[in-house]
Amino acid sequence: MNPKEDLFRRLFERLGDYQAEMIALQRQLVRRVAVGPDAGGPGEGEKAAFLADLLKGWGLKVDNYPAPDPRVAGGERPNLVAWLPGRKPGKVWVLSHLDVVPPGDEALWDSDPFTLRVEGDRLYGRGTEDNHHGIVTSLMAVKAFLDLGITPDRTLALALVSDEETGSHKGLAHLLKEQPQLFGDQDLIIVPDAGSEDGTLVEVAEKSILWLKLILKGQQCHASRPHRGKNTLRACAHVIVALEGLSQAFPRQDPLFRPPESTFEPTQKEANVPNINTIPGRDVFYLDCRVLPDYDLALVKERVLALGEEAARRFGVTLKVEPVQELPSPRPTDPNAPVVQALKRAIHRVYGREAKPQGIGGGTVAAFFRQQGLPAVVWMTVSHTAHQPNEFCSLKNLLGDARVLSHVMLMAE
Ligand SMILES: [Zn+2]
Repeated sequence: MNPKEDLFRRLFERLGDYQAEMIALQRQLVRRVAVGPDAGGPGEGEKAAFLADLLKGWGLKVDNYPAPDPRVAGGERPNLVAWLPGRKPGKVWVLSHLDVVPPGDEALWDSDPFTLRVEGDRLYGRGTEDNHHGIVTSLMAVKAFLDLGITPDRTLALALVSDEETGSHKGLAHLLKEQPQLFGDQDLIIVPDAGSEDGTLVEVAEKSILWLKLILKGQQCHASRPHRGKNTLRACAHVIVALEGLSQAFPRQDPLFRPPESTFEPTQKEANVPNINTIPGRDVFYLDCRVLPDYDLALVKERVLALGEEAARRFGVTLKVEPVQELPSPRPTDPNAPVVQALKRAIHRVYGREAKPQGIGGGTVAAFFRQQGLPAVVWMTVSHTAHQPNEFCSLKNLLGDARVLSHVMLMAE
């Protein structure tokens, strides 16, 4: 028998013993609220400190490459890398993010978002899926190597980064800019941050991301004399309806992606007046566009402005459009790249299913790797509850995915 196959059986079995530990780790992660300052939170410091201590306690070397950020306690956003040295050059990277999105309307939750609730196979809490799933599976895979005393061929590198949910400027983008020597184009890079429920979606391409801030200016006045003002909230409603025209303006479909078309969603709305009897003279909302790679984002911006201005003008309201994030889609990872093949073999071995390389709509940090010519893939087995109330992950998937990662880590030469 292939000696590595024998080692994999031991890893596979050992990981089966870690289920209580996986739950315990999720519990520790959920209670450390790592909402970033852009979303009104304290940042990732507490969660990172906990993880750094844990990993050092296992005997791993842990480096921190923080990004300065005066808005958080301590003045910096952590970016950790934990290392398990291999025998040969080359690395296997698993990159997860520390930050979580806010819980949203807490009335929609059946329990406290920041206290883990276990129900059967499901672990509920903000961040359990996005992105503790990645943290727990990658940590447990490495722990199995440590506990069994297995030295991998390639160095195993676990990256735990900040700021994924709000643009990655203080996270992976910072790491790639300040520490480009960390990553090599022969490395296998896996980002467990999106996927499908059967674990067969290996994401190799993403749509371009365009986040826009739309600012409407009119004139505030008393609500009993509306003719004296220019009501920006009414204009705002019409602008949002007018932007439905974007789907017709950019109608192309590409079956590599799910969904196959570009999407244009109005999302956040800033508060305007605090009382009922004042007509608002300023309204601000945001548009989240996920655009097929072959469309030029400049054209999308032009069309947003044209459609929006036309609608706003009817109410005497002006419209300004400012980009918040603009991330043109980089070249896809080759579906035959070694990391894709390694992951396909691992998924087949653990789940008995055929994985296939695909594109997705959600922006993940893999785009930053691809911009540097680094062939990264995004993969995990999801429950599709990220950012929702009652977010959960499946213990069964944690176990299966940890086994898949351990297979990639062991077999990579
Ligand atoms: Zn995520």
